Amino acid sequence: VKRLPARAAYDRATIHAILDEGLVCHIGFVADGQPFVLPTTYGRVGDRLYVHGAAASRMLRRLRDGLPVCVTVTLLDGLVLARSAFHHSMNYRSVVIVGVAVEVTDPAEKVRALEAVVEHVVPGRWSSVRAPTSQELKATMVLSLPICEASAKVRTGPPLDDPADREIPCWAGEIPLRCLALPPVNDPHLPPGTTPPASVIGYSRRRARPSGG
Ligand SMILES: Cc1cc2nc3c(=O)[nH]c(=O)nc-3n(C[C@H](O)[C@H](O)[C@H](O)COP(=O)(O)OP(=O)(O)OC[C@H]3O[C@@H](n4cnc5c(N)ncnc54)[C@H](O)[C@@H]3O)c2cc1C
Repeated sequence: VKRLPARAAYDRATIHAILDEGLVCHIGFVADGQPFVLPTTYGRVGDRLYVHGAAASRMLRRLRDGLPVCVTVTLLDGLVLARSAFHHSMNYRSVVIVGVAVEVTDPAEKVRALEAVVEHVVPGRWSSVRAPTSQELKATMVLSLPICEASAKVRTGPPLDDPADREIPCWAGEIPLRCLALPPVNDPHLPPGTTPPASVIGYSRRRARPSGG
C-alpha cells in the first residue's frame, strides 16, 4: 500500500477478519487484453480463499489456466462528510489479494471448500441442507487462491479537514453504515407457520468495528 500507508495492515488476523465479515468479493483479471472485475461469493479455510461457479464459467476456466488474479473485499463502515469537497471520504476495511488460483480436484477438498462457501454466508447452514450430488459437483468448479500476497487497508474516524476550514458553518462528521438483515421471508412452499432457525432469525454480519482515528 503506497497511498496513506499508515492505513495498511498485513497481518493475518486483520486480513482474515475482513474476509470473514465480507459477503462479496470482486475478482479482477485480464482476458484477451480486456480487464474484467466480477463479483462473486467466496469462503475461507485457513490461508486459502475458495471461489466456485459453473464449470463452464469463462472466468473460472481462465483462472484455472493460470491467469493472474486480483481479489478485493470491501466493507463500507461509514460516509465521512468534511467541510470541504476535497476531504470527503469513507470509512472502510478492504483487502486486496493477488496471485494465481488452482482448481480443486480432490473430491474431499472440493466438498470442504463448498461447505466453507455456504458456512461463510450463513454459519450453521451446511449441516441442515442436502449435500451436493456427484452430478452437481461435476457441474461446479472450485478454485483455491492462497491468501499469501495480501494487504488490508482501513480508514476510521472523523473527516480530516484543514484546520482553517473548521470555521465553515457546515455540518461535518460520519454517517455510519452497516449491513443489516431484515426479518426473513419464508419460502411459499414451506408448511404454513414454519419458524426459521436461529441462524436465520438472528442473522448478522456484524463483527467488532475498528476504532480510533
Ligand atoms: C470504500 C472505499 C472508497 C475509496 N475511495 C477512494 C477514492 O475516492 N479515491 C481514491 O483515490 N482512493 C479511494 N480509496 C482507496 C483506494 O482503494 C486505493 O487504496 C487508493 O486509491 C490508492 O491507490 P493507488 O493507485 O495508490 O494504489 P496502488 O499503488 O495501485 O496499490 C498498491 C498496492 O496496495 C494495495 N492496496 C491498494 N489499495 C488497497 C485497498 N483499498 N485495500 C487493500 N490493499 C490495497 C494493493 O496490494 C496494491 O497492489 C477507497 C477505498 C475504499 C475501500
